[in-house]
Amino acid sequence: MASGPVHPAYGAVSALRKLASAAIDLVWPPRSLLSDVLVDAPGRIEPALWAELRFLGPPWCARCGFPFETPLAPGAWCAACLAAPPPFDWACAALAYDDHARRLVLEMKRQGRRDGLPTFAAWMRAAAGPALAAADVLVPVPLHWTRLARRGFNQAAWLAQALAKAPGSAAQRPVLLEGLVRHRMRRSQAGLSATGRRRNAAGAYAAPERARAALEGRRVVLIDDVYTTGATLAACARALRRAGAAEIGALTLARVVRPVAVAI
Ligand SMILES: [Zn+2]
Repeated sequence: MASGPVHPAYGAVSALRKLASAAIDLVWPPRSLLSDVLVDAPGRIEPALWAELRFLGPPWCARCGFPFETPLAPGAWCAACLAAPPPFDWACAALAYDDHARRLVLEMKRQGRRDGLPTFAAWMRAAAGPALAAADVLVPVPLHWTRLARRGFNQAAWLAQALAKAPGSAAQRPVLLEGLVRHRMRRSQAGLSATGRRRNAAGAYAAPERARAALEGRRVVLIDDVYTTGATLAACARALRRAGAAEIGALTLARVVRPVAVAI
């Protein structure tokens, strides 16, 4: 490959960057995402804890991503989805929400820790596979502006931005940070029952008029940190559907997986 002369300042800047990075490593050497153990690069986890992570994958419900205990035909739906199909077309998560996944999420959400984002994006990409690759636009689940102001960031937006860049390609999938807005906040979803969460989330999200052109007829993937009961993602999916989205997926880092009682 032909290359022109390198500006002398470039070498100096590059050397300074390397020095700064080494200095940061001296002050904060990379530590595991799950413990205080030092690791060789940011975003890593020591092998013993890595082995304990519970990654999700097929066989799972083709509609909501709920893992099946026994293999079923690809495309099968769980009993809950058969009884009441959710408003999104598909959902899946990279990890089961256990103590390890909880720590990963809380360190990101409460401590503002960002070094795990490339790793989380790789896991989420692997979980969603071609469905994510086919997406036209990513929309993070929004926070109410008062919560965003208090926290200073939206972890769902961080995840969406980490997912925007396809590995090995310069192409960037668009992230519509304000594809949805949370225009009403009654209370936090934490501590509410499934019915309470559904009521609390219903009608709380909307696609603003200025986002409609980017959503209409598009394949949209909602991004969030945790799928708990699906109430938030369902409310967001309804708002996207009202805005004309053609297909709506929901991709999360983790998902609460526990047996659900369904009357048949
Ligand atoms: Zn399902």
